[in-house]
Amino acid sequence: MRKNIVAGNWKMNKNLQEGIELAKELNEALKEKTLKCEVVIGTPFIHLESVVKSVDTTKIGVAAQNCADKKSGAYTGEVSAEMVASTGAKYVILGHSERRAYYHETAEMLKEKVKLALENDLTPIFCIGEVLEEREANKHFDVIQSQIEESLFELSAEDCTKIVLAYEPVWAIGTGKTATAAQAQEMHAFIRKLLVEKYGLEIAENISILYGGSCNAGNAKELFSNPDVDGGLIGGASLGVDKFMPIIEAF
Ligand code: PEP
Repeated sequence: MRKNIVAGNWKMNKNLQEGIELAKELNEALKEKTLKCEVVIGTPFIHLESVVKSVDTTKIGVAAQNCADKKSGAYTGEVSAEMVASTGAKYVILGHSERRAYYHETAEMLKEKVKLALENDLTPIFCIGEVLEEREANKHFDVIQSQIEESLFELSAEDCTKIVLAYEPVWAIGTGKTATAAQAQEMHAFIRKLLVEKYGLEIAENISILYGGSCNAGNAKELFSNPDVDGGLIGGASLGVDKFMPIIEAF
């Protein structure tokens, strides 16, 4: 059975002390709770080790928001998948639309990042999503299909089951606009169908597909009630426990 996951993406927010504070606060809030989903927080690189040490990692998984597409060597400023794993982090968000748009990450680079993440026992949370013009031109299914095929479909069936997907329509990220529950379900069902065709029903049924894009306390329940929506990747609303907890408890 696939897992339900609520993952926060802090992006480039919170200095180290603030990040540790937020992680501890979330840890405290989750202490007595029986959860129906896994909780993950995606922090800046410099926070990873401290956050891992500040939380009960059986309840909160820690994620990096990126890793290098190279194993090691003369790549000034980069952080490798091995380095991420050495902090105790268990996840890495890859292919976020902000990385694709602002840092020109290509499908080929993302393929390498996924491979290196898996080699280092990190679970990639692999983001895919169309921009508004693509949806308006009715190209959104083609865009998503290409993003998946180009970066993931060389994986073995076994490796593919180690991936979490996050469908994040770019027009819904940080904009306050959310895909409707029907739009999310339609795309998630399409993604699952692609996975069934490539890897078979059993494997496709075991891959979690998260929704991301202005998900909040008010819409999480409806979004998560869809059969193919297995949780959320949460940006803005993961920056405060008061906003993040109701999303976690939407399951
Ligand atoms: C994100 O960046 O992954 C995201 C979903 O952001 P927000 O929730 O702020 O739209």
